[in-house]
Amino acid sequence: MLRLVDGMLMEKRRNKMYKLDDRVWYAQMKHVEKRIVCPECFGKRYLTVILGDDSKVTINCAGCSSGYDPAKGYITYSQWETDVKEVVIDNIEITSKEIRYGFDGCYRANNTNMFATREKAEIRATELAEEHNKEELKKLSRKEKSNSTWSWNVHYYRKEIRNAKQDIERYEKRLSVAKNIEGEVK
Ligand SMILES: [Zn+2]
Repeated sequence: MLRLVDGMLMEKRRNKMYKLDDRVWYAQMKHVEKRIVCPECFGKRYLTVILGDDSKVTINCAGCSSGYDPAKGYITYSQWETDVKEVVIDNIEITSKEIRYGFDGCYRANNTNMFATREKAEIRATELAEEHNKEELKKLSRKEKSNSTWSWNVHYYRKEIRNAKQDIERYEKRLSVAKNIEGEVK
């Protein structure tokens, strides 16, 4: 019981309590998918690698391809933007941990996201969006680690080509045994 009173006092200090039918500003954020030109291939979808003998090979851009999908030339990332709207409280729910306000029939929001003015709600929504955008940035930088595999891809494909060429040579020899024998006889 003491905890309930403490919790309510804390909520009260942070935000004022609202009554049924009060018009308040609800701070939330919305998810937006953004698209930018690939920072590695600049939209070309391939990368050129110069080998030690100055010859060039082109590989699928690892920056804008995912898994076995071909490179797209752009990368997408999630962005959170503020989304503030005025609502009318039609339900109040008090628990030992928080006070929740319902609006639009069923939606419930925590007291910490409800404000008397639009300005205050905007500040809170910006805070929420920035917090989430930081997380998205972290995800993007984790993706960049795939850079280390680019040169490995070149190495791997060239090795496979060499092996395949050796195979062809070996099989061609097996199919021209007579020619080899003739060569020895002469
Ligand atoms: Zn790319």
